[in-house]
Order: sequence, then C-alpha cells, then structure tokens
Amino acid sequence: MQPSLRPPGGLSIYIHVPFCVQKCRYCNFYSVVNNDAEIISRTIASTLDQLLYYYEQLGRPSVSTLYIGGGTPSSIGLSATEELVKGIFRVPELKKNVIEGFEFTVEMNPESVSSDLLGIYERAGVNRLSIGIQTFQERYYRLLGRVGSPDLAREALALLRRKWKGRLNLDLMTAFPGQREAEGLADLRELLSYEPDHVSLYTLSIEEDTPLGADAANGGVSLPGDRETEVWERQVDALRDSGFEHYEVSNFALTGCRSSHNTAYWLLKPYLGCGPAAASTLPGEKGPLRVENERSLERFNVKEGDASGRGESLEIIPPDAFLLEHLIVGLRLSEGVGRKHLQDIFDVDPVSLLEETLGKWATMVEISAQRLRLTARGRNFLDGFLKDAAIEIEKKGEPPRILWP
Ligand code: SF4
Repeated sequence: MQPSLRPPGGLSIYIHVPFCVQKCRYCNFYSVVNNDAEIISRTIASTLDQLLYYYEQLGRPSVSTLYIGGGTPSSIGLSATEELVKGIFRVPELKKNVIEGFEFTVEMNPESVSSDLLGIYERAGVNRLSIGIQTFQERYYRLLGRVGSPDLAREALALLRRKWKGRLNLDLMTAFPGQREAEGLADLRELLSYEPDHVSLYTLSIEEDTPLGADAANGGVSLPGDRETEVWERQVDALRDSGFEHYEVSNFALTGCRSSHNTAYWLLKPYLGCGPAAASTLPGEKGPLRVENERSLERFNVKEGDASGRGESLEIIPPDAFLLEHLIVGLRLSEGVGRKHLQDIFDVDPVSLLEETLGKWATMVEISAQRLRLTARGRNFLDGFLKDAAIEIEKKGEPPRILWP
C-alpha cells in the first residue's frame, strides 16, 4: 500500500526536527535531548531521504506551504541547519514547484536566536518564524522548566525586531495554576510590544506522563480551574482590542497574516510529515492514507521494510473516522466547516447528518446555507460537541463515499 495520487491543490510539507536542549517539564511531544552532531546529521539525512521518496511517489506535486517544527529546529547548530535547508531544496523541482504565496515557517526557541541563524533562514527563503515564548514571569518559566530565562527571551525578541524582516508568530501560554488576571495581561502586553503579526495562545495542559503531571498527581501543583480560564478570556478580549482576529480556537492574526500551513491542517488538505514521529494524511488509490513515522531515532535512521523504509505505518482512514476528523479540525476555525465542501467529499450534508447534536447544542451553533460553525462561546465547549457528533455519526453508519482531496 502506497500513497500514489498527486494532490491536485498542492501539498503542505512538515519537517520534524526532534532535538531539544532540555526537556520542558510539561512536554509530552516526541523530542530528544541530544547534541551529538553525528546523530543530528544522520537524522537530517534520513528525513530528507523520506521527503524525496514521498515527493516522487506523489508525482512531484506543487508545494503550497513548508514548515520546519519540532522539537527545537533552531537548536541543532549552524552547519546542521545549512544541511537541512539546502537539502530540502535539493529535492528535484521542489523549489521551482512552489506555488504563489508559498509560506515557509521555522520554529525557534529564544535561547537559540542569533544573527547567523537568522541569516541562514533568510537566504533559504524562510519568510515566517514561530517563536516559543510561553511566559515572561519567572515563576511560571520555572514551573514549565524551559531552558533560558525571561530576560534571555527579551534579548532574543529585541534582536529579532532589529534583524528579522519576515512574518512573526509568538506563542504564549496561559492558565498556569494560580495565575492572576493581571499577570496574564502583563504577559500579553509585553508579548505584543514586540509587534508579532500572529499570536498562538495555548492553555497549559497538564499531561500525566510528564514531570509536571507527576507534581499535579502528588498535590505539588494544583490543576487550573475557573479563575485561570477567566484569565484566558480576558487575554482573548485584549487580543481582539489590539486588532487581532480570533480565527481558530488558539490562534489570532492581524489581517492577512493567518498561518497558511496550519490552516491546511484545519481544512484537512493533504500534508506530508517527514522525520521521526511526524504524521501525514495523503491521497491513496483506496482512500485517504494516514502515515505515522517511527517515534525512535534508532528505528527511523535504519532503512528497511515498507514505504520509504523508515519504519512508518500506513493505514486507510475509515470514512466515518475521516468525516469526524473533518469536523474535529474544521470546527476549530471561526468560519467552521463548509456544507458543500463536506457534501462534495462524503455525499452528506452535515446539518442533516448531525440533526440531534445540532438540536442539543442549538444555542452554540450557527447554520447558514453555506456553513456550519460554532459560536465563540460554543468553541469553548468543542470537546463536548464533538463527543455528541461522534455518537451520532456512529449511529448513522458509514457516509456513502469519499472523494478526497
Ligand atoms: S522546547 Fe518544545 S518540544 Fe522541546 S521539550 Fe520544550 S515543549 Fe517539548
């Protein structure tokens, strides 16, 4: 089984760089603390090898967005960064195949921002940076176990403002245990003083299998409650007052500055993920394919077995699961999902399909001839809505067809 169809509207490509300087206390992403240049170099070579394999397999499609994330891609050093960005554009035709408006984003953490690194990105055509700030408050910075310090983050942002001409997203975290409204608003004000065109505002999620989760389990840290949720709501108001459009549950953009790459995920367009632990959704002869890469450097770096030989698993996504995925990601957007779009893919109108769920959540949904969307308040209850939608979809059985992408 192979992904074998050329995505007609272009492809979004994600490159996962799984290395970090140290492990944050809340992190449950796949990332490895490693500064061994040889392992980094081997992983980049394997990732590029996988990119080349799938790019050929998919018929050398146009590329609409490119995103290098992690991990901490900015932590791998200058020569490995050169290897990576040059390697991406050695893929035959990739560079000339990019379509107009091509967005090329790299994630950075403040401790690795430097003029030299910014110069490499700029020469490679990177036009958008996404910086993980999270907080400027010492006590929350320590709670998160982030490398560096708030002052180091300030220095990095000042350097970026002097040197970086491209677009800029800043990540901020909120709803820390015990956080007060004044602290949350001070964090946001300081963040906005560096003039980002896009802000991602994430509520802290305390996962069981992390050091922070262990602290919560033994009572060392309290779980965020209503007070912390109110901090998030005030920050959302402040972002709107500053001219940011709240276009996705956690994302805010000035006019024309939405993330095209992430929007491709939310619209469930085809995307290719390369590197350890990355995932893809790709068109296949028998239906949409989910590809999941090995979550192990050792296994990813040894070429053997199926597909690109990087140990990835491939499965056809069942129609009802794929329909639910469209709702899960699409309803995160302020515009919601297009009725005709879903009708074209699955031959079902979501409004008739979800009749009971929509009746139950009537005060939190808006239905027009074109779209089905949750209200701003409804998006705060997205999980509850989706749970009901999943039950109703299961009761009604498989949708009649999938014509995707
Ligand atoms: S920098 Fe990001 S990926 Fe790395 S450990 Fe921290 S949260 Fe996880």
